[in-house]
Amino acid sequence: MDFSISAKGQDYLERVKRFMADEIVPVEAQYHRELAALDNRWVVLPVIRELKAKAREQGLWNLFFPDDTYGCGLLNSDYALIAEETGRSFIAPEIFNCNAPDTGNMEVLIHYGSDQQKAEWLPRLLSGEVRSAFCMTEPDVASSDATTMVATATVDGDEVVLNGRKWWSTGVGHPDCKVAIFMGVTDTDAAKHRRHSMVLVPIDAPGVSIERMLPVFGAYDEPYGHGVVAFDNVRLWRAIA
Ligand SMILES: Cc1cc2nc3c(=O)[nH]c(=O)nc-3n(C[C@H](O)[C@H](O)[C@H](O)COP(=O)(O)OP(=O)(O)OC[C@H]3O[C@@H](n4cnc5c(N)ncnc54)[C@H](O)[C@@H]3O)c2cc1C
Repeated sequence: MDFSISAKGQDYLERVKRFMADEIVPVEAQYHRELAALDNRWVVLPVIRELKAKAREQGLWNLFFPDDTYGCGLLNSDYALIAEETGRSFIAPEIFNCNAPDTGNMEVLIHYGSDQQKAEWLPRLLSGEVRSAFCMTEPDVASSDATTMVATATVDGDEVVLNGRKWWSTGVGHPDCKVAIFMGVTDTDAAKHRRHSMVLVPIDAPGVSIERMLPVFGAYDEPYGHGVVAFDNVRLWRAIA
C-alpha cells in the first residue's frame, strides 16, 4: 500500500500543524492549570468553544470523514498523519471535532442510522454542539470479546428495552454529552456474532444513570471521563434504519 500523503492531505496537515502551533500549544498549559483549579472540572472552559469556532471557520473540522459530504474528504492515510499531530494534545481532538468516540459514532450513524435518527443527532454532532458516548464494555464479562456481553436490548412491540451495566464509557462526563450508542443482546438464539443491536439512547432517558466516573492511572480525564453507566428498563421508541 502507498502510504504517501496526498497533496490535499499535505495542505490540511500543514494547516493543522500551524493551528496547533499558533492557537493550541500556547494556551494548553494555562487551560490545564485553570481546569485543575476548579472544584467542578466537568465543564467546558470558554477557550475551548472559542478555538472550536476558529478551527471550524478555517475548515479544520470533521477531518476524519473520508468523503466530503460530511467532512473534508481526506484519505484515511492522510488523516492518520493529522491524528498523529492532534494526538499530541489533550484538547486538540475536540477543537477539530475529531475526538473519540464521536468520530466513530458519527460514522455509525451515517452508515446505519434511520433518516429520523440522522436528522435528530447528526447535525448536532457534526457541528460540535453535542457529544456522544459508546457503551459496549461491561464490568462483569471479558469485554474484549463482545460475544460475552450480557446487557440486553429487547424488542417489545414498538419499543426497545435496555437493561445492563456498562463501564469505561468515555465521554459520558462531558456536559455536552447528550447521546450514547448502547450495545446489547437482542436475539439469544441467533449465531453468536449476530445477536447484538446498537441502540441510540439519549443520556437523559428515564432509566439511564451514571453511577460513577473511573480513574485511569489516577486521572479522571475531565471533562470527558470514563463512566459506569446503568441502564434499568430504559424504554425507547424503536426506529429501524
Ligand atoms: C481509557 C479507556 C477508555 C475506554 N473507552 C471505552 C468506551 O468509550 N466504550 C467502551 O465500550 N469501552 C471502552 N473501554 C473499554 C475497553 O474497550 C476494554 O477495556 C477492552 O475492550 C478490554 O475489555 P476488558 O476490560 O473487559 O478486558 P478483558 O476482556 O477482561 O481482558 C483482560 C485481559 O484478558 C485477555 N483476554 C480476554 N479474553 C481472552 C481470551 N479468550 N483468551 C486469552 N486472553 C484473553 C485480554 O487480552 C486482556 O489482556 C475503554 C477502556 C479504557 C482503559
